[in-house]
Amino acid sequence: MLEVTNLKKYFDVGHNIFAKSKLFLTAVDDISLYINRGETFGLVGESGCGKSTTGRTIIKLYQATGGRIIFDGIDITDIPEKQMKPYRKRMQMIFQDPYSSLNTRMTVTDIIGEGIDTHNIAKGKARQEIIFDLLNKVGLKREHANRYPHEFSGGQRQRIGVARALAVSPDLIICDEPISALDVSIQAQVVNMLEDFQNEMGLTYMFIAHDLSMVKHISDRIGVMYLGKLVEVCPSDELYEKPLHPYTQALLSAIPIPDPRVTRQNKRIILQGDVVSPINPPEGCRFCSRCRYVMDVCREVTPELKEVSPGHVVACHLMDRK
Ligand code: SF4
Repeated sequence: MLEVTNLKKYFDVGHNIFAKSKLFLTAVDDISLYINRGETFGLVGESGCGKSTTGRTIIKLYQATGGRIIFDGIDITDIPEKQMKPYRKRMQMIFQDPYSSLNTRMTVTDIIGEGIDTHNIAKGKARQEIIFDLLNKVGLKREHANRYPHEFSGGQRQRIGVARALAVSPDLIICDEPISALDVSIQAQVVNMLEDFQNEMGLTYMFIAHDLSMVKHISDRIGVMYLGKLVEVCPSDELYEKPLHPYTQALLSAIPIPDPRVTRQNKRIILQGDVVSPINPPEGCRFCSRCRYVMDVCREVTPELKEVSPGHVVACHLMDRK
């Protein structure tokens, strides 16, 4: 469904007046990944690691600085905005903050109906029936159709966001931290709902989260990002059982386990050291300032993603020593 190769997204952040050179924030730096049809690919990393920028660049809310985006066999990287309409229908996004992503002056009918109108899917009564049907699917009622976003709870607003994405019958949905702003009790409901829609409609998801516990149940494969780079990708179960990159190990150790005996055995890895600046970062591993296994080579040579077992790739010089 989706293949991304060497994707880059740099933001111009001014000049270095001493070196007389431009400064770029390397939000996404040379990442490659694929998502199979009907699959959920989890993308995980700390805030500011570039995971949301990756999603927005894939869906072309940002123009890529470099690399290719192949969607269902078609290279959409340089397609002009005017010709993107058919692809916009097939690729939708669910945003993290359901309140700021919904226009507060529009009713639920207008919000969900916007995509239906833009893509000429239905008019009049048929349009309204689609909206009622979508509300029903996401667990809301018909009488909610004429209300405004501020009249709903956070969980309900995210359901409206899901209904808006589903309204145009997409193939791929980029879910950008869709549950991070919700109460824990509501998170599971939204994840279960997304899974049900995937089974029913054959949807493909990229599920972005800052915490590995959030993507555990929904993802088939998971990619871990650190400062604009993908550092490890593998099937979900394997990542939890056999994390190989030191950063993935630290992320996993931070997941709370509701059993005091297991918690005592599994020591949390506390990351120390400063984070390397993403503005014109130096060569070498970007995790080297915080890694407990750092070697001389890590500061000089950028580790490439290498396959260590079928479907499991890791970017770390430690893998060369095994
Ligand atoms: Fe640590 Fe070196 Fe591996 Fe980077 S390449 S994660 S610094 S061991």
